[in-house]
Amino acid sequence: MSHHDFDLFTIGAGSGGVRASRMAAGLGARVAVAESRRLGGTCVNVGCVPKKLLVYASQFSAAFEDARGFGWKVGDRSFDWGRLIANKDREIGRLNDVYRSLLEDSRVTIVEGRARLVDRHTVAVGGTRYTAETILIASGGRPNVIDIPGAEYGISSDDVFHLSTLPKRIVIVGGGYIAVEFAGIFNELGSEVHLLHRGPLFLRDFDDDVRTTLAEEMTKRGVQLRFDVRPTHMTRQGNDVVINLPEGKTIAADVVLCGTGRLPNTSDLGLEELDVALTDRGAVIVDEFSESSVPGIYAVGDCTDRRALTPVALAEAMAFVETVFKGNPTSVSYNNVPSAVFSQPSVGTVGLTEGRARSDGYDVQIFRSTFRPMAHTLSGRDERTLMKLVVDRASDRVLGAHMVGPDAGEIIQGMAVALTCGATKAQFDATIGIHPTAAEEFVTMRTAVDE
Ligand code: FAD
Repeated sequence: MSHHDFDLFTIGAGSGGVRASRMAAGLGARVAVAESRRLGGTCVNVGCVPKKLLVYASQFSAAFEDARGFGWKVGDRSFDWGRLIANKDREIGRLNDVYRSLLEDSRVTIVEGRARLVDRHTVAVGGTRYTAETILIASGGRPNVIDIPGAEYGISSDDVFHLSTLPKRIVIVGGGYIAVEFAGIFNELGSEVHLLHRGPLFLRDFDDDVRTTLAEEMTKRGVQLRFDVRPTHMTRQGNDVVINLPEGKTIAADVVLCGTGRLPNTSDLGLEELDVALTDRGAVIVDEFSESSVPGIYAVGDCTDRRALTPVALAEAMAFVETVFKGNPTSVSYNNVPSAVFSQPSVGTVGLTEGRARSDGYDVQIFRSTFRPMAHTLSGRDERTLMKLVVDRASDRVLGAHMVGPDAGEIIQGMAVALTCGATKAQFDATIGIHPTAAEEFVTMRTAVDE
């Protein structure tokens, strides 16, 4: 046992920090975790969880419309934003308590307040100093503020969960998954939605077929997408926020949401003073075992700018504990990290995109299927599902699986197991489908598309 107050001091009780603290304490380490806001971090408070609850809320409008084709007569309906937000807040409060119990039951000391490194074994929170053998930075990320005059009239994704009313008109600036998801949420809840992105198409790192299919489907649902456009400034006119575009064009809205990416949350942590190496964006530079340039100071999760996803932060936290507290050096593989975009329709993806596989030098075969989901034969909804496999011709290995359509995230999770096991296209073909599902299409695509 070290002569320090704790064996591990963790800064940030979000996805990565809570997991690492609990696991280390479970192995007998004396652990403290500092949190300046609410337990659970981004995912629980202003990320995955409240976002998914809003997605669920928004999906009812399409379900009501689609019900008619199945014989239902749906009467008058109305939506109460205030009630949704209050119910969402109650659930998040419950989760905050669950996180507190998880930490307390593991005998982790919770220190409330903002932590700052003093030296490589000392952290200050408020007026108190704590020493620890190992320090883990798990301080997460924060919204990137758009750099144009009048940016203060916009709101961030942190604020959107607490709007007092549902905006009638909303402009969303950004082309990442957060911008796309909120465009779907507000569109389905009945707002007029404009999504503005400076690039030629949103979701830059996704497969091109996914990007174009989703853009078409979102347009059909009524989202007004504008690409290759850079807002110049924002102003306020009465209750409206006006976003100004080149050539004198303007869009007035009740709310402008800036979904323009996220930055590592590492400012004012005392890292520069300790010579902890950071990237240009402020991310902590770490080795494959999550150790920073200063021995004994580790970092996991969004503050390292690797893959900013909750399951990745959890995996990095587990690998850190395995390395430091079990003496078993363990690194995380970033190959085949699956992810979903909870857009409407949704996106699921794992492995290489067609473009990436080609640029990596693979000779690829592409299997692609687009079809009308069975439910829409009766609902009448004009919506197509896309499924796509990217296969390495030489080894027959499936390099990537991509989907746009209902439940894409649920379906791609299983595909991720197959890709992690190195499945070949022949093994996909030998797999029996589940009928009638959309997912069976992934094991029945037989003919490669002509190139
Ligand atoms: P965080 O969860 O951000 O936790 C960091 C914690 O550190 C925070 O609680 C913060 O208050 C605290 N902290 C920071 N500095 C200090 C300090 N100096 N002292 C004390 N405490 C401090 N990921 C998915 O996998 N799926 C999704 O669907 C998804 N949706 C998202 C939607 C939105 C709108 C956003 C913003 C993110 C979403 N994410 C999603 C990303 C996911 O939330 C993050 O990848 C994940 O939370 C990262 O965990 P972390 O432990 O690195 O940091």
